[in-house]
Amino acid sequence: MTERALAIAARVEAFVRETVIPYEKDPRCGDHGPSDALVQEMRAKARAAGVLTPHILPDGSHLTQRETAIVLKASGLSPLGPLAVNTMAPDEGNMYLIGKIGTPELKARFLDQLVSGESRSAFFMTEPALEGGAGSDPSMMQTLCRRDGNDWVINGRKAFITGADGAKVGIVMAKSEDGACMFLVDLPDPAIRIERVLDTIDSSMPGGHSIVVIDNLRVPESQMLGASGEGFKYAQVRLSPARLSHCMRWLGCATRAQEIAVDYACRREGFGKKLIDHEGVGFMLAENMIDLQQAELMIDWCAGVLDGGSLGTVESSMAKVQVSEALYRVADRCIQVMGGMGVSRDTVVEQIFREIRAFRIYDGPTEVHKWSLAKKLKRDHARAHAA
Ligand SMILES: Cc1cc2nc3c(=O)[nH]c(=O)nc-3n(C[C@H](O)[C@H](O)[C@H](O)COP(=O)(O)OP(=O)(O)OC[C@H]3O[C@@H](n4cnc5c(N)ncnc54)[C@H](O)[C@@H]3O)c2cc1C
Repeated sequence: MTERALAIAARVEAFVRETVIPYEKDPRCGDHGPSDALVQEMRAKARAAGVLTPHILPDGSHLTQRETAIVLKASGLSPLGPLAVNTMAPDEGNMYLIGKIGTPELKARFLDQLVSGESRSAFFMTEPALEGGAGSDPSMMQTLCRRDGNDWVINGRKAFITGADGAKVGIVMAKSEDGACMFLVDLPDPAIRIERVLDTIDSSMPGGHSIVVIDNLRVPESQMLGASGEGFKYAQVRLSPARLSHCMRWLGCATRAQEIAVDYACRREGFGKKLIDHEGVGFMLAENMIDLQQAELMIDWCAGVLDGGSLGTVESSMAKVQVSEALYRVADRCIQVMGGMGVSRDTVVEQIFREIRAFRIYDGPTEVHKWSLAKKLKRDHARAHAA
């Protein structure tokens, strides 16, 4: 690991432990995520401490994925950490995408405000499931866009749009005659109406997750990201790094849950000895140690693949499945080790468990990744046995 990444990660970790963790009990943390006022208060402190947007260097360059991994893990030591230092989803993935695909004009208008942490963004892809819209299968997209002079006009409905309520920048996906398209839009816009904010199991994302109606949204041609019909190609550019950065942040959270559970098991006594000395408890914590280490190695391996210039689609699918499932097991065992206190809100372990449960679904549910890996095995087998 490079010296610069180790130094940044150490600064981020100290900031999260000393400054961010005390905010975990702040009443401004609601069911639909922390308020923007709280986010801005934490960001002002992160800016002063020199740890805001730590994965993007002052010259605009991005840390390598392997370097990013240790920095984002440090930011994830609290569910509030990524918000405080501006490494959270969906902004982190959106910044990466605009940085890769955006024209200089689009970057100046949309990217700079995200990198500086002044505003946040939303990614509009998923659609209401029971209306037959895009979900695990994005090709089912029903939101349509059509050219009208120098503009595009977009109509449709979206679901589970994280942070749409309160975001200033939107990346909207819609289908044209050529295929999928992506547009950068300013928010709020009267043509993008928040129908309702869903009540969900997780609570760390400001603005929560919204059902959104897009009604005759007019976007100038110049705000299309790349070319008409290339939207899924650009989604792929965002997909692997975004999947992996979720793994990095949640690895930090699961590590914190393990610290709290170990502390509990080393202090709490029952049946004449410390809980950790009961094999049933000690083994759960040991299994956590193994899962955490394996998750870290899987992330580092996949990050290395992305740093080598590959899209890493297969590798990031493997990493996403392994890491999300392993971290869920870790959080679940932490709760078990802590007994009643594990399911109470006295510690952050309860929240970490809820957050990690949702991670097994977004950015591709586990089964969809396994299904696509099995398709690859079949394809490779067919190639290997062709005539
Ligand atoms: C907390 C959270 C935040 C989100 N944020 C955003 C966001 O900001 N922007 C956005 O666009 N979307 C967002 N999403 C949506 C997310 O991307 C979708 O939930 C996900 O793609 C799954 O789609 P779906 O919910 O329609 O499930 P469905 O497609 O209905 O799938 C349901 C289940 O069916 C199974 N399944 C589906 N296909 C297969 C298959 N081929 N093989 C085997 N099993 C299969 C899986 O078990 C899957 O969990 C978010 C979701 C959550 C939970």
